[in-house]
Amino acid sequence: MIYDVVIAGAGPVGLFLACELRLAGLSPIVLEQVEDPRSPLKRLPFGLRGLSAPTLEAFHRRGLLDKIAAPRGANAGSGGGAASIPHWMQQSRRPGGHFAGIQFFQDDIDSSKWRYRLPSPAGTSLAVEMEVLESALAARAVAMGVEIRRGCGVEGFKASADGVSVRAGGETLHALWLVGCDGGHSTVRKAGGFEFVGTDPEFTGYSVQVEMTDADQLKPGRHYTSTGVYTYQPPGTVTMVDFDGGVFHRSRAITLDHVQTVLRRVSNTDVTVTALELATTWTDRAFQATTYRRGRVLLAGDAAHLHSPLGGQGLNLGLGDAVNLGWKLAATIRGDAPAGLLDSYTAERHPAGAQVLDWSRAQVALMRPSRSTRALEAIIRDLIDTRDGATYFAERVWGVSLRYDLGGHHPLVGRSAPDFELSDGGTLGALLRDGKGLLLDFDGAAPLRTLARRWSNWITYVASDAKDNLGLSALLVRPDGFVAWADEATPALEAVSQAAARWFGEPETGV
Ligand SMILES: Cc1cc2nc3c(=O)[nH]c(=O)nc-3n(C[C@H](O)[C@H](O)[C@H](O)COP(=O)(O)OP(=O)(O)OC[C@H]3O[C@@H](n4cnc5c(N)ncnc54)[C@H](O)[C@@H]3O)c2cc1C
Repeated sequence: MIYDVVIAGAGPVGLFLACELRLAGLSPIVLEQVEDPRSPLKRLPFGLRGLSAPTLEAFHRRGLLDKIAAPRGANAGSGGGAASIPHWMQQSRRPGGHFAGIQFFQDDIDSSKWRYRLPSPAGTSLAVEMEVLESALAARAVAMGVEIRRGCGVEGFKASADGVSVRAGGETLHALWLVGCDGGHSTVRKAGGFEFVGTDPEFTGYSVQVEMTDADQLKPGRHYTSTGVYTYQPPGTVTMVDFDGGVFHRSRAITLDHVQTVLRRVSNTDVTVTALELATTWTDRAFQATTYRRGRVLLAGDAAHLHSPLGGQGLNLGLGDAVNLGWKLAATIRGDAPAGLLDSYTAERHPAGAQVLDWSRAQVALMRPSRSTRALEAIIRDLIDTRDGATYFAERVWGVSLRYDLGGHHPLVGRSAPDFELSDGGTLGALLRDGKGLLLDFDGAAPLRTLARRWSNWITYVASDAKDNLGLSALLVRPDGFVAWADEATPALEAVSQAAARWFGEPETGV
């Protein structure tokens, strides 16, 4: 059997990509090296992940939002689940997120500046447990008919001009394409000879659950010290950023003694750790593959870009890769992709990744334990405390500023499409559920309807007014929900045709 796509890794990115490929009619298989997907590190407190606007919009467009928001997930964006929000975040003002630990607050944000955002069930931020997210994505993939083979790690592969032979679990699988979604230590990236460049770590981060004596020496909340930063959530949850200890190599066991040494150093106390229940380490290593594609091998998620978890953006970045890649790879495999479509994956997602890596580096710079850094931090803190400051940081942390450089004269082109509420009560989000493109015509102009027929396999045409059409006459939306073309005047048919051909290929018949 020849699979369309072998996906290495059943993390959130691999699973979401599998769903996207299946939605487009392909047959992917997911190979996962770990037998059992459950892990205490995927649950509270360390398994909590902040999802940002582009991710939530993507889930809304695929009907996945309620599966992720409803269960045990703590909800930062729409009000529920306060019990699972970390202690230091439970305060009278609603935090919107943070930059290097400096919080911005929801009531400071001026969202009227985001002219092209409309109210949507997707919202702008939501915290979920990794386990909830992964099981919702796995359930969707399986329900769609995707095979997930667990305990079957990819060991290596051979790629040719026609396909890829993948060695995994003692056998060889044949596929047209291979996508490495196998995390930061990606076998696919290494075996595929991808260049991975970036900056080396300055600190080691520790997330631990411990029992202690003299724990009252630690103050709850987040604290900068002369050697790093610690965040304490009583009774025994501690996160530490240790600048002075050198980089802790992940192959070493994290012992109780080591944790105690680091905790004493970072907190400037002499607390005694009596039991180590859970521990994981991370660093601020920031590396990115120079290209996300080499021949028939692609990378997505942490396999393509790695950075510190500060500010929580890696998962969002990876899920953004998946929704960007899915429809493009599907069209390539079906044989109806326009020239350059697959290469637009790297062209669009690499800059998005580079921005996030720099965002994480900037936070590291603001956490260094030096007097000048503390002085700089005080200034940034003041700026974040202003309305413009909070709005700017929310825009970056929530992913609202994401825009692909697609050309086009309208400012909406390259941005995530607003969730227009249509006259019949439906939303743009719901119209994208089948993974096709969408031509939304607010004026119901006959020539647009005729034009859309030429791409009827790939584009759904809908004529409807909206509660608020933001002054637009029509817009063309790609399957990933990003705007390919928009206009406020009577649409120039040539421009719509060009945009449709650019993303969906030339139609078989002319107008
Ligand atoms: C403490 C912490 C907090 C974080 N908080 C946030 C946050 O709030 N928001 C956010 O956006 N991001 C956050 N992140 C980052 C986020 O968790 C990662 O970016 C995300 O998990 C990446 O998803 P992925 O699917 O690419 O990789 P992973 O989640 O690493 O999944 C990769 C999968 O591939 C499997 N695998 C590995 N090798 C092979 C192989 N050879 N063959 C087959 N399978 C293989 C692994 O077992 C794993 O299941 C945080 C990270 C940490 C450490």
